[in-house]
Amino acid sequence: MTDKYKGIIASNGIAMGDIYIYSKEEIKANQEEIDSSKVDAEIEKFKSAIKNYFRDLEDREKTTKEEEEIANAHKELLQDPFLEETVVNKIKDENKNSELALSETIDEMVTTMSLLDDDYLKERAADYKDIGEQLMYKLKGIKPKNLSKLDGKCIIISKELTPSDTSTMDKKNVLGFATDLGGKTSHTSIIAQTLGIPAVVGMGNISSKVKDGDYAIIDGDSGFILLNPSQEEKEEYTNKIKSLEEEKKRLDKIKNSTAITTDGKTIEVSANIGNLSDLDVAIEAGCDGVGLFRTEFLYMENTHFPTEEEQFEVYKKAAEKLEGKPLIIRTLDIGGDKGLDYYEFPKEDNPFLGYRAIRMCLDKVDVFKTQLRAILRASAFGKIRIMTPMIISVDEVKKTRKYLEEIKKDLDKENIDYDKNIELGIMVETPASVMMADKIIKYVDFFSIGTNDLTQYVLAVDRGNENISYLYNTYNPAVLRAIKRTIDESHKAGKWTGMCGQFALDITATKLLLGLGLDEFSGTPSNISKVKDTVLNTSLEESKKFAEKILDMEDTQEIERMVIENN
Ligand code: PEP
Ligand code: MG
Repeated sequence: MTDKYKGIIASNGIAMGDIYIYSKEEIKANQEEIDSSKVDAEIEKFKSAIKNYFRDLEDREKTTKEEEEIANAHKELLQDPFLEETVVNKIKDENKNSELALSETIDEMVTTMSLLDDDYLKERAADYKDIGEQLMYKLKGIKPKNLSKLDGKCIIISKELTPSDTSTMDKKNVLGFATDLGGKTSHTSIIAQTLGIPAVVGMGNISSKVKDGDYAIIDGDSGFILLNPSQEEKEEYTNKIKSLEEEKKRLDKIKNSTAITTDGKTIEVSANIGNLSDLDVAIEAGCDGVGLFRTEFLYMENTHFPTEEEQFEVYKKAAEKLEGKPLIIRTLDIGGDKGLDYYEFPKEDNPFLGYRAIRMCLDKVDVFKTQLRAILRASAFGKIRIMTPMIISVDEVKKTRKYLEEIKKDLDKENIDYDKNIELGIMVETPASVMMADKIIKYVDFFSIGTNDLTQYVLAVDRGNENISYLYNTYNPAVLRAIKRTIDESHKAGKWTGMCGQFALDITATKLLLGLGLDEFSGTPSNISKVKDTVLNTSLEESKKFAEKILDMEDTQEIERMVIENN
């Protein structure tokens, strides 16, 4: 019988082939103390390990942007005085040998990062572990095992793959991989997505259940791995691969088309990004622009509030890469579950209802104005729009406008160029902003509906609470009515509404959202061509009729069923 194991989808697609088990022996640090006469030598040894690994990173062949970025990120961490100082101090003050000092330092860093509430930053702990491992090899003078030369095409099964493993692996021979550890946002998963290698991670202990030469199917669309499948299953998956390839070819042909309904309404299909490398993926996927740039990552990955110059460089590059396509930059949306290492948020009973996003920005005006000024300056280099999160009142918009005007005056005085007609919009993600949509729209140029939060606030259902996750459903008629009201109020004022919550590029919902009147859809790049495909084959008039029917319904599950049937 075939064994089937479930994990976390890291990269879509299907791969079939023989297994190659990749296991590295754990290398342990020497635990002996050193006497004072050896301190200088151990420090020197550590410094030369850093230099050697730095050189390796420079020499390493990099075929993707992610690999380039990982190498750069590792180089940056190697140059970070914190790492070197902490290790050197442990050698000097605690008489630890360089291996022990390094392993303790890395353990401490990894523990701190793993405790963070943010998945993305949690995953960055893997980079520290990776650097620790590479430096340990250097200190011990061992040549690490790697995947750079494989004998033939295979599926890699491993406890864990570090970003270095993935960066250096023999890509033409890796059909797919599955690992015991890892999450969706790890660098390893990101590389797999970029290379189009199917991968499933977080599989528990798959590596102990397989042996070299076993046959496996990795189903990166459903998050399964099938071990030693039957002939029938192999045939079934061979056919699936064929039809996926054909579908991909078909969608690739339309990915850069303008999405126009059969009766002539043009829809913008855009991408959500968190950094510049996401933008490369989005452009490759055929995005019409960026509907949401989550700038909080710039702040979260930093050791200080990013300066105007640091932000300006990123926004400018993003605008230039888009070559005139719109870039909606969301101002800092921090707080709630997203913290900062260098800033202590007040302890609150309900952080999601607390000091966050625009509330914090209007309180820490210097931080807010620094960001607005960086965005305004970057607006001279492309089509930038500004968007503020968590708005509940006209007053918050007026204050934002006031700060914008003050900065514009300063820029005028300093003869610094910017887009004088830069548009300002808000995220509609609170019930208050929906109820006040008719008033707020007078002060802004557009709305973008944040269904992730709007669903949680309209339904009073915490979006991260598993006990009540069955209630968290954007098809709930209360949420659909909120969406409809928002769109209608913007249209009445001659303005437009987009959506940047996950629901926007949920391909099941496309026709419904068209019928509700949505003008712009923005989400993860992987679904862009599919949404464009649906738009190109749908009539607005028909979808409007369908949406009317849905809006008249009472029951969430029935609505969802009906929407699925309508596809
Ligand atoms: C949303 O709330 O829908 C949204 C896009 O913002 P975030 O997921 O970043 O809160
Ligand atoms: Mg939100």
